[in-house]
Amino acid sequence: MSCSGECQMRSLFRDALHYIPWKHIRSWNCIRCGRCCQEFQINLRFYDYARIAQHWPETVDVDHTGVPFIKRAHGRCVFQHSSGLCRLQPQGMKPIICKLWPFKVFPAARRRGHDNARFHYKDGDFFVYLNPFYKICPGINRGVSKDLPLVVKEIIEIFHNLSRDQQYSTAR
Ligand code: SF4
Ligand code: SF4
Repeated sequence: MSCSGECQMRSLFRDALHYIPWKHIRSWNCIRCGRCCQEFQINLRFYDYARIAQHWPETVDVDHTGVPFIKRAHGRCVFQHSSGLCRLQPQGMKPIICKLWPFKVFPAARRRGHDNARFHYKDGDFFVYLNPFYKICPGINRGVSKDLPLVVKEIIEIFHNLSRDQQYSTAR
């Protein structure tokens, strides 16, 4: 039996209440569908905001709580090309939040017993989850299972500014 639109919405919002540990998926590989650039408003770390504002001040703004973000137009991020690709990527200016999608990194488990979110890196443990809205990403459970720990390691390195390069995480 297929899930109706209403059923899918209920499922999406139920999942949105929970962070899903990274070990709960089999694999992940970006297929460059471009949906993540269309579904969300992209909030920026100050570093990304400053770099983008320096070159294209008209593309960014700050909301009433002081959070900077990239403007949208025609149902997508202003930097998404009609081909679906990111105009900032070739400039080496893709924001960190876009590099991390669809993952999120936390210093502690979101819930008790979440060992499936743990990733040991260097001297410490990190807890990596899927973004609560990860189901919009068709890259989930695609690609090679053995690469998933490499993706997660790279996500942690990018999150902590230990690396800006992307080999396994979303890089297009
Ligand atoms: S990260 Fe997911 S939603 Fe975004 S372009 Fe890649 S496959 Fe599509
Ligand atoms: S900055 Fe690039 S990757 Fe991020 S939402 Fe915009 S087009 Fe997509």
